[in-house]
Amino acid sequence: MDRAGIELNGVRYRWPSRPVVVVCIDGGDPAYFERGVRDGIVPSVARFMTTGFSAVALGDVPSFTCPNNMSITTGSPPSVHGISGNFYLDRDTGEAVVMTGPELLRSRTIMAEFSRHGARVVSITAKDKLRRQLGKDMDLGRGSVNFSAECADQCTPEETGIEDAVALTGMPLPDVYSPELSLFVLEAGIRLLEQRQPDLLYLSLTDYVQHKYAPGESEANRYYRDLDEKFGRLDALGAVVALTADHGMNDKSDADGSPRVIWLQDILDARFGKGTSTVICPITDRFVAHHGALGGFVRVYCHRGIGPEDVIRVTRSLSGVEAVYDQASAARLFDLPLDREGDVVVIGRADTVIGAAAADHDLSGLKGHRLRSHGGVSEREVPFILNRPLRAEYLARAAVGRLKSSCIFDFAINGVDEAG
Ligand SMILES: [Zn+2]
Repeated sequence: MDRAGIELNGVRYRWPSRPVVVVCIDGGDPAYFERGVRDGIVPSVARFMTTGFSAVALGDVPSFTCPNNMSITTGSPPSVHGISGNFYLDRDTGEAVVMTGPELLRSRTIMAEFSRHGARVVSITAKDKLRRQLGKDMDLGRGSVNFSAECADQCTPEETGIEDAVALTGMPLPDVYSPELSLFVLEAGIRLLEQRQPDLLYLSLTDYVQHKYAPGESEANRYYRDLDEKFGRLDALGAVVALTADHGMNDKSDADGSPRVIWLQDILDARFGKGTSTVICPITDRFVAHHGALGGFVRVYCHRGIGPEDVIRVTRSLSGVEAVYDQASAARLFDLPLDREGDVVVIGRADTVIGAAAADHDLSGLKGHRLRSHGGVSEREVPFILNRPLRAEYLARAAVGRLKSSCIFDFAINGVDEAG
């Protein structure tokens, strides 16, 4: 067995001397922990912050789920791993494509690389949409597993490395729109840590609660109390526990509770005519009930008759728009793959979302809740918390500029002070 560690995307990872658990708290805006610590509902996390390490780091923009899960697990920006949204427009076919296919991923994950070098690796995601990218090229021999809570009842040893993931937790199969979906992921991680002694675990949750409830609301408090209890158990099992998020979350509603939306396709159609442009909302996935496919970042593709400069001129002056970039500028500024970028990128302010045509968004799933969403620059701040102190070299790195969430595996594997 190769105990020399691995190298991926320019980072050398040593062989973990104790289990390393990285948790991606989907939609886990730093405000939830700040509020939770103040209200005394997250005692384990509060302890990690004091005796380990805590910072607010930056995720990648667009601040969506798929790109940031892949940045975290490859230790690289979207320009390297290729996943720049949940959704993009294939210019060759004119079709909008879901970006969850493993063939679109241009890097191996840290989990895959470790598993191929003989490590035992556990990767569990709440929603099945991430599973195939997270598990791409993973070697499921030697006890490694890769499955989703959503499809925990459909596991086969060949595809996931585990026979019965539901029985593992003692919990019923959770609803895909529930806090239990995330708790199931964590409970399964704890059980596998006890039973299989893996070297590395990646546990990726769902943002169902954060889309619905603000920090301090009772449902959010209950969820964070439950998460904290699981984090405490992972810590008690002797693992290095590292907590981050794919993106934050902001309230995007008016005082009266109605969503503050720029219907960009309607505006561009009225100005230039139907068929002259396509607005793609890369937050879109199968699960739009809690955000109506409305986020803070959209891509505009220009067709006949208009160019990027026309779209830029019109969108720049819209109230609620924070920034507008052409293709090259957006790719350069946010380290995105140029070949998958739109002609124009439009980013909303913290309090505003951008949609396509009003008729194409179904907001009935909000059911009276205020719209909370993400995607823009304003939701790129995420927690970066470790349960153990860092070595001096890593403390020095953290002190220079802003940490990136994509460094969390590096910090958790290489940066922890083993004497601490
Ligand atoms: Zn997310």
